[in-house]
Amino acid sequence: MTTTEARATTFESLNPRSGDVVGTHPVHTADDVRAVVERARDEAAWWGGLSFDERERHLQTWKGAMTRRVAQLADLMHAETGKPHGDAMLECALAIDHLSWAASHAENVLKRRKVPSGLVMANQAAYVEYRPLGVVGVIGPWNYPVFTPMGSIAYALAAGNAVVFKPSEYTPGVAEWLARTFLESVGRPVLQVVTGYGETGAALCAAGVGKVAFTGSTATGKKVMAACAETLTPVIIEAGGKDALLVDHDADLEAAADAALWGACANAGQTCTGVERIYVHERVYDDFLAELVDKAKDLRAYDGPDSPIGPITMPGQLDVIRRHIQDALDRGGRALIGGADAVGERFVQPTILVDVPEDSLAVQEETFGPTMTVARVRDMDEAVERTNATRYGLASTVFSKERGMELASRIRSGMTAVNGVITFAGVPSLPFGGVGDSGFGRIHGPDGLKEFTYAKAIARQRFKPLLALTSFSRTEKAESQLAQLITVLHGRGTTIPKP
Ligand code: NDP
Repeated sequence: MTTTEARATTFESLNPRSGDVVGTHPVHTADDVRAVVERARDEAAWWGGLSFDERERHLQTWKGAMTRRVAQLADLMHAETGKPHGDAMLECALAIDHLSWAASHAENVLKRRKVPSGLVMANQAAYVEYRPLGVVGVIGPWNYPVFTPMGSIAYALAAGNAVVFKPSEYTPGVAEWLARTFLESVGRPVLQVVTGYGETGAALCAAGVGKVAFTGSTATGKKVMAACAETLTPVIIEAGGKDALLVDHDADLEAAADAALWGACANAGQTCTGVERIYVHERVYDDFLAELVDKAKDLRAYDGPDSPIGPITMPGQLDVIRRHIQDALDRGGRALIGGADAVGERFVQPTILVDVPEDSLAVQEETFGPTMTVARVRDMDEAVERTNATRYGLASTVFSKERGMELASRIRSGMTAVNGVITFAGVPSLPFGGVGDSGFGRIHGPDGLKEFTYAKAIARQRFKPLLALTSFSRTEKAESQLAQLITVLHGRGTTIPKP
């Protein structure tokens, strides 16, 4: 951020296709953020005090409002990110489906339940329930400005928290639209938005929220975690990836090529779970490549309403994409489609690279453009080995008729699609998140609901204990009876029947 920007009280979001101003938004200072979080505490007290049913009704009302106005939201997403309308609609549809799932499943996942108390503590009735954290701070990226933050917002709200959302500086209008429709639907600002640059996000980390759910690059994720450590604020980090697609010798090659191309190039490759590397069994390598090149040869990114691929949203990313392609070519790689000239002023053309060394940037670092490397492997063991040889571990894809599930289990990534691509993201009951440099914590599904709560344990005495253990009046006899009981239960080292 420049000094001028540091002093500015507003900033503009721009249309990446034309450079036109889409909207003007406040740069919220640390004081502003603190005030918003204070307000959110009151909202959290009200919202958290509602029953699951009442919260569900409010969230379903919001869902209805979003759905009825989805074309308006998609227009805004198109304007701020440049993504095609169809892609924006797909993203909204998935986010709405997640919101509905979170709202209708929160009670079942989080409500108080009785759990076994065990033989030693048989006089106790044991319960666990999942309580909201209060105010959750959500820091989101620009590439999926609705789907990605809603993975945290919807689940945090359904779990009974108020939310303060700091969107990317590239997509503030989309975030304000979400907060506005929420307020119109619910009547209270349980979801609030703060806008600005990285400093505003940093202020949210320091504002004393109950948890920060961050989605963005690994580098910023580390800064967020360091800032949150100061106040022992827990964090979820949903960071970048370098996802691989594996093609086995018995795979449906047409379907695999279709999935590879869409997985790599949809949203101009600016997808955290996008396909960036492809490993193909040597027996089908040539056929797969021919299929992929054939499908890719007419796919173009251009400035037009029907373009299947939009512009690169963040101008700085163009240099990264150019550098990765050039490094691959300098080190012996070949471009079968696209190449060094594929990177234009705003648009990047699909690029298929082969013969790229495994330690090059295009194989190791997140490119975030419509590019892919394709490599021949002697068998699927080698494919898994190479797939796992990365510091990232977000998602992966496997195409195989016989071994899909087995290969999926062997890949070190938070999510895997078998014979489809990125399909896990649309299944609301599946957790979403990564391992390694792709982060930790989960959004979506029951895990995603629990992520925005703390587990509360309650042990209620039902009758006086046969062995009084937690008292200074404990006798030697009780101690010896406990020793006998423990020996009977565990002395043989075998499993005891579950109560
Ligand atoms: P960034 O890391 O640049 O920014 C993410 C968010 O953090 C933005 O809102 C940004 O604000 C904010 N921010 C920047 N600096 C700080 C700071 N010091 N403290 C707190 N917040 C800060 O990521 P991008 O927006 O460029 O998003 C792309 C990245 O997101 C890719 O790496 C992609 O893989 C990843 N991603 C991961 C997903 C997942 O679920 N795992 C899903 C989608 C994307 P500002 O924009 O104003 O600088």
